[in-house]
Amino acid sequence: MQLIWDDFLKLIKEESGSRVVETWFKAVSLQKWEEDTKTVYLKTPNQFVTKWLQQHYTTLIKTHLSRLLHIKDLNLVFLCNSKKESLTRDIIPASIISSQNNLYNSSSINTSIVKFKEKFPKSKKNKKKETSQINKNYTFNSFVVGPSNSLAHAAAYAVCQNLGKVYNPLFIYGGTGLGKTHLLHAIGNEVFKKKNQITIRYQTTDKFTTEFINSIRLDKTHHFREKYQNTDLLMLDDIQFLSNKEQTQEAFFHIFNTLHEKGAQIILSSDTFPKEIKGFQSRLKSRLEWGLVADMQMPDLETKIAILKKKAETNKINLKDEVANFIASKIKSNIRELEGALIRVEAFGTLTNQQITLQLAKKVLLNIREPKKDGIMLNDILKNIAKIYSISVNDLKSKKRQKDIVFVRQVTFYIMKKLSFCSLQVIGEFVGKRDHSTVLHSITKIEKKLQTDAALAQKLNQIEQEILMN
Ligand code: ADP
Ligand code: MG
Repeated sequence: MQLIWDDFLKLIKEESGSRVVETWFKAVSLQKWEEDTKTVYLKTPNQFVTKWLQQHYTTLIKTHLSRLLHIKDLNLVFLCNSKKESLTRDIIPASIISSQNNLYNSSSINTSIVKFKEKFPKSKKNKKKETSQINKNYTFNSFVVGPSNSLAHAAAYAVCQNLGKVYNPLFIYGGTGLGKTHLLHAIGNEVFKKKNQITIRYQTTDKFTTEFINSIRLDKTHHFREKYQNTDLLMLDDIQFLSNKEQTQEAFFHIFNTLHEKGAQIILSSDTFPKEIKGFQSRLKSRLEWGLVADMQMPDLETKIAILKKKAETNKINLKDEVANFIASKIKSNIRELEGALIRVEAFGTLTNQQITLQLAKKVLLNIREPKKDGIMLNDILKNIAKIYSISVNDLKSKKRQKDIVFVRQVTFYIMKKLSFCSLQVIGEFVGKRDHSTVLHSITKIEKKLQTDAALAQKLNQIEQEILMN
């Protein structure tokens, strides 16, 4: 049975690529088949995967399995392993949802469908668990409001009360780590709570693009379109990644029009103001401004302190005022960093069995340097790496494909991502005008190597130290 399934996975991999296998088929198994009824039973980890497979891969599964099992016109039955489901559902950490690496992480299915009209009736008790893929921790309740985000927050809240009626689309923009994704999920959670016959779809733009490209390859663009048009609330996160993706923009344009016409709510986030997004068709840009454009800024000191206190409360960390004050004044880049600083201080306290005092916080955060301006930071990194590896900056920026240059370029991307607060897009642009997906691919390669290559890990650590000390 396992051998047949392995062969099947190979075929799917050839046809649809390894990402599809990793995301959708890895956790599925062939349970049994009955020749007389021509029925094949597949076991899936949850209803979400079941639905997805049914909607997108039924034909593909049937074709290959009927060939491998020598059964013509077979019937497929999906058996769901729901105990596992509550596990995958409850532990989708924030970092995974917001991280771009999640494309490669099979456990983080970062598309979120919340559909309450269950096609698979189950006991009431399980219902909620089985329908939500939105991060439950990102709620309005856990979102601290201050002058820097009050407009975006108020707009988000108003939209929940009047879907499709007040601001459509709602466009939220702001730098990285300032709470855009949090707010989108908060909307998802709020609407989910209020109106349970509604179809909500949250998607990262990266995943949206990948899905679209796959749909072209499989000649299933109508499925793709249907899927996104068949929603009452569509949220697309980090829409700046549609930049220069002409065809995906075209598809999104049509989806946008259909949804807007039928009065479905559209919510978008981006790191830039619509007018300033580069590589967008102008007709699409103008639509982005049809509704309300709300920005999110770095919070002031009081809001930062309030955020720290909230995080401390949620995580049951005993945080003194003076420590919160110190951390808040020290971190000036973004809220993700602010959280990171609190976690570091707390972790150090726990590891060394000490109370979190001002002195301890100072010690831990002493070595955190405020990031330099993006451009200067990227330039520093580039120059340092070029020097360390004795390769010219021009070669690193060039299109040269020699093995050693390619490797050092990958290292550069990896370190830039780690040490700067720049998006993959900015990093790619900086190093020879490369696409953000190239940068992502390079970083993934280095991360894979690091898992087995201790010498490389040490070397990269050393490089990071050198750059930070410079
Ligand atoms: P973005 O999508 O803008 O890059 P995120 O929404 O991922 O940022 O936010 C980064 C982190 O900061 C998340 O863990 C989020 O919970 C936290 N955060 C951002 N804004 C707030 C806020 N106003 N209150 C509480 N936490 C916040
Ligand atoms: Mg985000």
